[in-house]
Amino acid sequence: MTSHVSISCRACGLAAALRDTRCRACGGTLGFAYETPARWPSHPGRVWDYADLLPVPRDVAPVTLGEGGTPLVAAHRFDAARIWWKCEGANPTGSQKDRAISLAFTHARAIGARRVAVASTGSVGLACAAYAARAGLPCMILMPRDTPAERMKPMLAFGAIVAAVDSTFETIEHLLRALDDSWYQASTIAALSPYQSEGPKTIAYEVVAQLGRAPDWFVVPVGGGGTLAGIWRGFQDMQRIGRIDRLPRMVSVQTTTFNALEIGLARGLSTMAELAEIAADESHPTIARNLKHGVPPDALAALAALRESDGAAISVDEQAIRSWHLRLPAEEGIFAEPSCAAAPAGIEALAAAGRIKPDDVVVALVTGSGLREPGALPPATPIALPASVSPADLDRLVPRVG
Ligand SMILES: [Zn+2]
Repeated sequence: MTSHVSISCRACGLAAALRDTRCRACGGTLGFAYETPARWPSHPGRVWDYADLLPVPRDVAPVTLGEGGTPLVAAHRFDAARIWWKCEGANPTGSQKDRAISLAFTHARAIGARRVAVASTGSVGLACAAYAARAGLPCMILMPRDTPAERMKPMLAFGAIVAAVDSTFETIEHLLRALDDSWYQASTIAALSPYQSEGPKTIAYEVVAQLGRAPDWFVVPVGGGGTLAGIWRGFQDMQRIGRIDRLPRMVSVQTTTFNALEIGLARGLSTMAELAEIAADESHPTIARNLKHGVPPDALAALAALRESDGAAISVDEQAIRSWHLRLPAEEGIFAEPSCAAAPAGIEALAAAGRIKPDDVVVALVTGSGLREPGALPPATPIALPASVSPADLDRLVPRVG
């Protein structure tokens, strides 16, 4: 048992053990309470520099690839406010999920897990494959039959066992839930895997160290909702231990099709059943595939964070996302996956509505690198030049600055 953290059910308060993944009495999601750390890093650290506020025993060696410590870059040409990009694409497998999955595999090591299973076609599967290789644990990744081969290749390179099931994601998740205790279930859904859900807190710790304060607004493109909820808990930790005296307002950005949080916040919905009634059909296409959830699995925790922080839930349309997917690399030098483009589109919408003021300090989470998903860009061909091309021809191609 760990000494710096106590584990209990968020619903009924019953104490839980490190081996538990949900409440043994009511099935509720587990939460964590920490002793106030005796020391705190004076410089922006990486994930495991903040181990005093993470829920695994201090004597277990972390399963790490050096995740965290990502750049906070000032917006260059986008002047809706004083905007900073938190560039999570700099993580080992190119997304913020590495923070959570490093924790999941360290928890798996702490309880002596012997093999790992996960259902994912995206960032979580890729991160699991990499951290399984690092941990020396066999890892099975299940995905629906129609998953493109490009998604599987990097996972196979990490040595994961990748299987395509002739079925839907939902059926695969049911199958995983029926596996016995010899399997560790890796997931970034807090109800299934609570330990990893503390990983995103480290984003807040780093931002406070990088800015020297909390921002006025923290904008997160929301897929599952766990990242936003975790970042909010991280800021609450920082206030509790006296590193900040005020909290940011959290903002979720979804697409206009998949906007369960926007509707949920506006209508005061507070149960998954209520959210399921307003959920969009997941067959609707969007370029921002990470945001495609009829109901984000961690929607209730995300909604609680939005309410507690007096934040905002907004949605942006497909055109705005496509536009910012091209503007971020061209104007800011940041090539992000399409779902990240929802963040600047969301800031633009909030600024236009007068909610974000020009002097406000805004941090936007750029969740993942676009280098992993170049196929999302429009078709393009290079300028064709003949073998006889001359230096003068090249001179005409490129304008000079200054
Ligand atoms: Zn309980």
